[in-house]
Amino acid sequence: MSKTADELVIMVVEDHAFQRKTLIHQIRTLGYQHLLEAENGITALALCQSHTVDILFCDLRMPGMDGMALLRRLSLGGFQGGIILSSALEDDVVDAVLRMSAAYGLHVLGRIDKPSSPQQLRQLIDAWSPASAPLAQKSGLTLSVDELRRALDNNQLLPWYQPKVAFASGQWVGMEALARWQHPEYGLVSPAVFIPLAEKNGLIDQLTDVIINKSLQDCHLWEQIGLSLNLSMNLSTTSLIEGDLCHFLINQCQRWGVNPELITLEVTESSFVQDLGKALEALTRLRMHGFGLSIDDFGTGYSSMQQLALLPFTELKLDRSFVDRCYADPSHLAIIESSIELARKLGLTSVAEGVEDAQTWQLLTQLGCDICQGFFTARPMPCNELQHWHQTWQARLPTLISH
Ligand code: C2E
Ligand code: CA
Ligand code: CA
Repeated sequence: MSKTADELVIMVVEDHAFQRKTLIHQIRTLGYQHLLEAENGITALALCQSHTVDILFCDLRMPGMDGMALLRRLSLGGFQGGIILSSALEDDVVDAVLRMSAAYGLHVLGRIDKPSSPQQLRQLIDAWSPASAPLAQKSGLTLSVDELRRALDNNQLLPWYQPKVAFASGQWVGMEALARWQHPEYGLVSPAVFIPLAEKNGLIDQLTDVIINKSLQDCHLWEQIGLSLNLSMNLSTTSLIEGDLCHFLINQCQRWGVNPELITLEVTESSFVQDLGKALEALTRLRMHGFGLSIDDFGTGYSSMQQLALLPFTELKLDRSFVDRCYADPSHLAIIESSIELARKLGLTSVAEGVEDAQTWQLLTQLGCDICQGFFTARPMPCNELQHWHQTWQARLPTLISH
């Protein structure tokens, strides 16, 4: 069961005793009773091991381990709670820390000033709604590796699909397969919960095989009803470097009569960091057999540019952290514009992931981005809902394209 407000465990990490006591007092006044305090990062990490902390207020400037180092350590330890930054530093510094935390996979709820108002505090704590937490956190359940193994054997993993449409014409051009675990008891489990579990425990190859097999089977069905759509799939680093992914993919394409040219394989930069030689070999072989290759989450790593020059990519996928409301952020907009330009010059298809509103859609259309993937056009959905989505989309289209 999810926790009620008065069951939330909240921790304040702040070296300045007076500021720490003031914040603790303010939070207590709002009705939260389970409060922990730490005067430095070491104590905070120790407390996180002995308690399930739901919300952590993190000061940035602290002697010894500063806030950024603490956030990195929390991320390495798989911290699942919400984080609120408390800092008197300038906005652009705090914004950079917010982005860094998101890149570490932490759930940042926002920032507070010092001192902060009770309204500001209440709002941020309330932002930690059960819906925004991953399922394992939400229900207090931990999914074990044995359970995942059984789920794989019992057919509980399946691909959902998020449609991709061309900005210029609004035409439906393809979709990305996104793994879901249909848990008989807990409902739909997010890949953020089970992909890392599979990767850590040697189950990722089996999982990749299941997703490849099922989505190619769906692709075969679409072809039968005259839908020739591009299908994108995510490859994890380990499956790429180890195992015999290329042969498996070719065999499965033959089995389901799918042309590899319709398939795009999405990889992230971390894939190349581990073993560049092997990654290069595997990706070049896949490309040689006609598969498209996409560099996923472009712009989030440090070596994107270098990798682009090294590998035979066909698509560049802009990360949603830059795309989302880029019209309101000049530095994000600059990254988007130059990435689209780069893709064009290198002859790659540009895809924007995370388009959530009409303003972003219009801006990216003007900038000449090729393909849109985001909640604005469609959320991920099970295979049998795609046709209905397409009808709705076609009805929306005239107003969008005429703008
Ligand atoms: P990703 O490859 O970056 O996939 C895109 C994620 O962004 C999806 O989350 C999708 O639902 C989400 N998304 C798309 N548009 C929007 C938007 O407009 N707003 C917001 N807020 N989110 C949007 P999802 O399905 O939870 O997948 C998370 C990650 O799990 C994926 O990130 C991918 O790295 C991994 N994953 C999913 N399926 C597989 C798989 O079959 N194999 C492997 N190795 N990884 C997978
Ligand atoms: Ca992807
Ligand atoms: Ca992404």
